[in-house]
Amino acid sequence: MHYETIFQEIYHELQSIENIGRVADYIPELADVNPDQFGVHLTTVEGDEFSFADAEKRFSIQSIAKVFTFVLAYSRVKSSIWDRTGLEPAGTPFNSLVQLEYDQGTPRNPFINAGAIVICDILASELASPKENILSFIRSLTGVNTINYNPMVALSEKKTGFRNHALVNLMKSFGNIRNDIDMVMDIYFHICSIEMSCRELSKAFLFLANNGVVPYSGERILSASRTKRTNALMQTCGFYDEAGEFSFKVGLPGKSGVGGGIVAVHPEKYTIAVWSPRLNKKGNSYKGMLFLEEFTTKTRLSIF
Ligand code: GLU
Repeated sequence: MHYETIFQEIYHELQSIENIGRVADYIPELADVNPDQFGVHLTTVEGDEFSFADAEKRFSIQSIAKVFTFVLAYSRVKSSIWDRTGLEPAGTPFNSLVQLEYDQGTPRNPFINAGAIVICDILASELASPKENILSFIRSLTGVNTINYNPMVALSEKKTGFRNHALVNLMKSFGNIRNDIDMVMDIYFHICSIEMSCRELSKAFLFLANNGVVPYSGERILSASRTKRTNALMQTCGFYDEAGEFSFKVGLPGKSGVGGGIVAVHPEKYTIAVWSPRLNKKGNSYKGMLFLEEFTTKTRLSIF
């Protein structure tokens, strides 16, 4: 299929629609991003790659990193991970405290902030040097050794992370955080600051389209069954409280972040990463979602 032509077509169609989204502005590093950038990259499980526009430009992947840390924890502690976090859609905002109190410190799923913080706690127990090990893991998925944290973003996340500190303290009070809170939050704020391009993201997620094996290295990251489960979790919980809408319109498992990135996976076929910084009211990329909806409609390449 001529994906690049399709990308161009959809991009030009979307140019006529006003972008009513707004860039995340809770930290200066995100508020200052040029909001009109756009990139998309598709990688097939056979290794073919298709790019358009700013596909090589790195941006703040934010919550997309929650998939990497979840996979790393899941591959190590296996099903005991479900003693620490649930696996149901939250239906509340990603940083909500209300539900956590009600559920006695057990987050609804690993992709809301509370769940991702518990995963950081698990990694703090499991890994010798969590921040270095997480980075090496992501680098090994892509083969790109320059992927890194942005220390300024990590610091801004820390300075403004009042709700995240509230979440971790609440979970600690229920006994669901085992390590020192500052150490766990240092990992959490750093993973929010990772910068990658659409091309790198699309390649990094490819094992999820390939039954758990990185196609170009042959390395198995997850069993086929755990891969299926990770994709199922992204399908139901990957888009804040808009996962139903994303399923309905796009029809692929995926994960978004407030930097404006979205990665989606078509098992056995391809991964696609799109980046457009202006967000809709639910915190998902406004044009990114529209783009993917058009893409799976035109190509009929959704899982439904
Ligand atoms: N860094 C944000 C926070 O922890 C989350 C980012 C995101 O949802 O993409 O509040």
